[in-house]
Amino acid sequence: MKRVAIIGAGTMGAGIAQASALAGYDVILYDVSDELLRPSLANIQDSIDKGVARGKTPTAVAEKAKTAFTLTTSLAEAAQADLVIEAAPERVDLKRQLFGELEAHAPEPTIFASNTSSLSINVLAAASQRQDRFLGLHFFNPAHIMKLVEVVKGDHTSQATMTAALAYVARLEKTAVVCKDTPAFIVNRVARPFYGEALRLLGEDAADVATIDTLLKSLGFRMGPFELIDLIGCDVNFAVTQSVYAAYFQEPKYRPHPIQQRMVESGRLGRKTGQGFYTYE
Ligand code: NAD
Repeated sequence: MKRVAIIGAGTMGAGIAQASALAGYDVILYDVSDELLRPSLANIQDSIDKGVARGKTPTAVAEKAKTAFTLTTSLAEAAQADLVIEAAPERVDLKRQLFGELEAHAPEPTIFASNTSSLSINVLAAASQRQDRFLGLHFFNPAHIMKLVEVVKGDHTSQATMTAALAYVARLEKTAVVCKDTPAFIVNRVARPFYGEALRLLGEDAADVATIDTLLKSLGFRMGPFELIDLIGCDVNFAVTQSVYAAYFQEPKYRPHPIQQRMVESGRLGRKTGQGFYTYE
């Protein structure tokens, strides 16, 4: 595998693109407009420079990585990769449409992967003609730093595809955990009550945002639930909550909270908009 395409240059797509470039891959970065692609690449290059300044990345590796990107708004061009990783918004219709279009242009051996947090890999794979070359590669945020990747095997994912995907994850110096195609896989499912109970406490006025975060951090969590939702994006967190709730047929413990809806509808999406549960410069 030499060339990786990333579909969606947002929070996760940028992080996965950065990690892939630093591991020596050529990276095709796709988004719907140049206005989105250019700042995303500038952020990636800036982040690579920060890695050099912190002594984490050798200068020669960084310089090569910074030139490894091709930006495109053409899905036909993006499909010309050995591995295509989709990191578009968490909407099943949108993702299926993207895979259907990519299918029309991709070379036969190309592997398709989705970075979905909660949607079924089998449902997404069914939008393509290559269910044996389709899997989930679920990175964590920030993707260029977090070591864990859930490698999700669909019902038809071949062993050759798993082997190739695991080799890619290993080359990124990340830790792969192979899991089955269950709603929200492992980490996001276990994390649902972390967000859900914190939101219920807030909704009942049991404590404020900072107090709940401080208490949970005092138990050893690196971030409090509200800090983490702000990092993830309130919109992404809400979409995942809704999708898990639906996937488990309205199981009460996964029910979304009206606070999430209010945050999203009022544009308070977290760090990316400068305002979420906290305010950011
Ligand atoms: P984001 O909103 O930051 O980025 C999404 C990107 O997709 C944007 O750049 C947007 O312009 C682009 N996009 C919009 N329409 C598109 C289209 N038709 N085709 C291609 N790209 C399009 O979202 P994100 O946080 O990067 O999440 C992306 C995926 O990664 C979601 O499936 C999400 O569930 C998953 N994920 C998110 C996190 C997280 O912490 N944010 C963690 C793991 C997985």
